[in-house]
Amino acid sequence: MKKESGRSDATACVKCGTCNTLCPVYGVTGNEAHTPRGKQHLVSRTEKHTISAHYGDIFSRCLLCGACRDACPRGLDTPELVVEARSGLPKLAKGSLLKYVSRKALVRPTLLAGLARLGSAAARLGELLPAESGLRLRLEGFTGEILEPPPAGYAAGLRAKAAARDDRQASGPEPETAYFIGCLANHLQPEIAGATQSLVVAATGAEAEVPLEQTCCGMAAVAAGRVDEARDLARKNIAAFENNGLPILASCSSCYYQLMSYRTLLADDPDWRQRAVRFAGRVREFSSFFLERFSADRGQLLQAAAGERVFYHDPCHLRFTHRITREPRELLRLLPSLELEELPAGPRCCGQGGLFQLAHPDLALQVRQKLLDEFGELAAQTVLTSCSGCLLQWKQGLAACSGSGRAEHLAVFLAKHLH
Ligand code: SF4
Ligand code: SF4
Repeated sequence: MKKESGRSDATACVKCGTCNTLCPVYGVTGNEAHTPRGKQHLVSRTEKHTISAHYGDIFSRCLLCGACRDACPRGLDTPELVVEARSGLPKLAKGSLLKYVSRKALVRPTLLAGLARLGSAAARLGELLPAESGLRLRLEGFTGEILEPPPAGYAAGLRAKAAARDDRQASGPEPETAYFIGCLANHLQPEIAGATQSLVVAATGAEAEVPLEQTCCGMAAVAAGRVDEARDLARKNIAAFENNGLPILASCSSCYYQLMSYRTLLADDPDWRQRAVRFAGRVREFSSFFLERFSADRGQLLQAAAGERVFYHDPCHLRFTHRITREPRELLRLLPSLELEELPAGPRCCGQGGLFQLAHPDLALQVRQKLLDEFGELAAQTVLTSCSGCLLQWKQGLAACSGSGRAEHLAVFLAKHLH
């Protein structure tokens, strides 16, 4: 595993440009100011009192994908620099209704669920959000078959079951795993959580324990530069999982990335530093967890239909930093007749990038289109991924293409192939 956080010493950039060719934003704008190198240069030359709206705009043009950090020979952490810059722009961030509502929605899961329900009645959005709203664009894509919010979230369903349960009932086998659900699987697509639980039962013989006090991982708060909010969310999640020492499985790769980053997020908090280290030491990435368990007993997975072809999309948060690209592919290869296709030029960013998709929907669409064009050349019709954001981006993109492709969470796909 590569470092999570490199140096953010802007003066150390040697302007080599290694990062530029990898930056998906530069790939569509061609503007040097939008490159990682440009951002490093800007920070090195800007005094705090000269920060302007133009400066804020440049720092909003980053997907936080981590490609530049991974490639930089000096170990510079441009995404960290971007988050720092955004955290210094409170007035600019609040100046936009879109960004403000988006941020509030994404760090408050119940509001996210409520907004998604608004999305299922797209006509009402016109009354609530301005026409140029990226949030409106995004939620319009959540209609009909793309995303129909369930009547109740996953954790809410568990709470209702727990309230109705007769305490005298025999309890099931002891859990060997705890489960961090994530906002998408909790509020909008509980079938991801259900599928994950089915896989956990197949792998360990018992359902995973789901602490109901858990909350959003905090990635959106970080992306918005609200690092203090992210720290609060981190403390809540750490406390929620401290009643046992079980491994903590995350089905969303962005959540995994964020949960692992609690070590650095709380490194300066003497009361929480060690708790964060212990917590992160228990977190398990989805594909690595199931590869380890299912490799020992292939018979637990059904064979895929002969000739079934899929494409696995690497979420940037796994591809860079943690470099988890082999595990999901090996997991899928446990289904012997499944054909796994790759893009000719290798993996590509989908353009979702948390709030980037909301702040710059036009650029996000351009980044996404490059990916869709390459995917269109493959014979595979099914896209699999383990990131909530990527999954939504793919669902919206494939629907817009009017082709027959579909996107599915890796957990849902694998659970369908269980005995
Ligand atoms: S994190 Fe990604 S989008 Fe942001 S500057 Fe680096 S390469 Fe570009
Ligand atoms: S790769 Fe690193 S040193 Fe080279 S231009 Fe980019 S940020 Fe600067």
